[in-house]
Amino acid sequence: MQDILKLKEVLETPQNIVITTHQKPDADALGSSLGIYNYLIKTGHKATVITPTDYPKFLHWMKGNENVIVFNEKGNEEKSKKLVAEADLIFCLDFSNLKRINELGDAVGASKAHKVLIDHHRDPDDFAEYVYHDVDSASTAQLIFKLIKLFGDKEQVDSDTADCLYAGIMTDTGSFKHPNTTQEVHEIVAELISLGANNSEVSRLIYDTNSLDRLKFLGFALSERLKVFEKEHAAYFAISMKDLEKFNSKNGDTEGLVNYALSVDGITMAALFTETEDGTKLSLRSIGDFEVNTLAGEYFKGGGHKNAAGGKVEKGLEETVNLFEKIIKEYSSQLQNREKIEVYE
Ligand code: 5GP
Ligand code: MN
Repeated sequence: MQDILKLKEVLETPQNIVITTHQKPDADALGSSLGIYNYLIKTGHKATVITPTDYPKFLHWMKGNENVIVFNEKGNEEKSKKLVAEADLIFCLDFSNLKRINELGDAVGASKAHKVLIDHHRDPDDFAEYVYHDVDSASTAQLIFKLIKLFGDKEQVDSDTADCLYAGIMTDTGSFKHPNTTQEVHEIVAELISLGANNSEVSRLIYDTNSLDRLKFLGFALSERLKVFEKEHAAYFAISMKDLEKFNSKNGDTEGLVNYALSVDGITMAALFTETEDGTKLSLRSIGDFEVNTLAGEYFKGGGHKNAAGGKVEKGLEETVNLFEKIIKEYSSQLQNREKIEVYE
């Protein structure tokens, strides 16, 4: 493994770069990708962001969005594979296991390009030459900013880049509410604002651009689909494909829903189960010491952070929910213990 500062030497000459991030990118994934993309373009490199799948419309405002290639969209696979094969450098952001980028992972793994890993997830795989990894970092976006500063290039962060990075930090800290919101996070955010980040506008673009359908779906989910287990300190939503159709749901409409279950007083673990064409996708959240990434790995072929994890199973919604109800009964004594509070997304 090379020292991350050696990467600065490589970047002294123009490079052919691919930037990629995890499937179903969130604001940290896309904000980190387009943040570093705008910086790399500005400093004379050729760069392309390739995402494994598409992402919600409320992220489309980021500068450079129009140039993002979505790997699994029509006609893009071959183009993406060619770019990956011919790249000098591949930046892998906000994930640390090539399985998280689906089929794109094989192409990245096979490419002769030097790989750069910048991430904050647990248990990173060993596939990159240059690694900037910190599980204690609230977001990948703040690592991107710290790296640009380490390179002595803070002045290359313009307001568009600052907006992208601010978005990632804001969402991965739950709008500066989670315990991962450290003094350093506020200091970095203050610097981003001084570089031109439009903090209030970024917040509006991400959180306050709901469709009426989405708000009605939220109301329906809260009144009809939330199940609370007071004794076990757990709660979950189970959402069927029919529910999603009924409210004309778009990609991203269930984003943040799980937090309403976690916000019920006394709840230590919350889940969101969403029925898909080929099984059930789930999101898990917890407060304190209870590790949902371990649970996600053990029962749901997933992983993530201690207090925010996810997974996907090839089982129906009902079967998955029944399994979860069994699990919470089994773990009810641990779920009562919520001393140390930490949240990472
Ligand atoms: P979300 O619930 O927001 O989809 O995901 C929360 C976190 O769980 C993500 O940051 C990611 O680390 C992890 N995660 C979500 N889905 C999966 C999955 O299918 N597999 C693995 N390994 N991790 C996941
Ligand atoms: Mn992240």
